[in-house]
Amino acid sequence: MQTWSAPLGADRRVRVAITDRHDGDLCVDLDPGELAPRRAALIDRPWLWLRQVHGAEVVVLGPDDPLDEVVGRAADAAVTTRSDVVLAAHSADCATLALWSAEGHVAAVHAGWRGLRSGVIAAAARSMRALGAGALQAYTGPSIGPECYEFGGEELDSMVAAFDDSIIAVTSSGAVGLDVRAVVAIELRRNGIEHVGGSDACTACRGELFWSHRARMDTGRQALLCWIEP
Ligand SMILES: [Zn+2]
Repeated sequence: MQTWSAPLGADRRVRVAITDRHDGDLCVDLDPGELAPRRAALIDRPWLWLRQVHGAEVVVLGPDDPLDEVVGRAADAAVTTRSDVVLAAHSADCATLALWSAEGHVAAVHAGWRGLRSGVIAAAARSMRALGAGALQAYTGPSIGPECYEFGGEELDSMVAAFDDSIIAVTSSGAVGLDVRAVVAIELRRNGIEHVGGSDACTACRGELFWSHRARMDTGRQALLCWIEP
């Protein structure tokens, strides 16, 4: 697990962690009895995880909301101002992001090509700003690299229409591909979010560290975790 942090206002910090194979499979479909100790060994506080559906639905955990009414909802982004939970986004190729504001809003976002096309980053930013967030910053998890992500047809056309042709890549085998990181960069720019850091690891190339559905049909999932520390 790699960790990273940045200062927030009022002597708090946002912390971001990116898990890998050594931390174990964190797929939310695993037996809860297997997942609970694995999660606790990484970050020992309640996890807010979602059933990710490649959409743009955002779940907000308010100050008095019972966590168990929100955990496991069908959505691709979670937002909170609370410091008693950790937000989790899982992936095996898709991009993941932590977003935060100096005022103490945090989000974990799962952003594959469908979710990006649906505007999941914009939706998360909107939710945070509706709660009073000012300037937003982002840290990104590992994702499949443009050299490994063969992509084309109507799906690519729809992505070019939603973004621009800078997202078209050429894979290492010479096929047409999609540059997911370029899409994320466009979305961050469009939504006024500063990209302050992240992993540039390719989940397909780095099989010793990360799961890849696309490259190896892996069913395992790594996670990007973010939380506020008082
Ligand atoms: Zn690669």
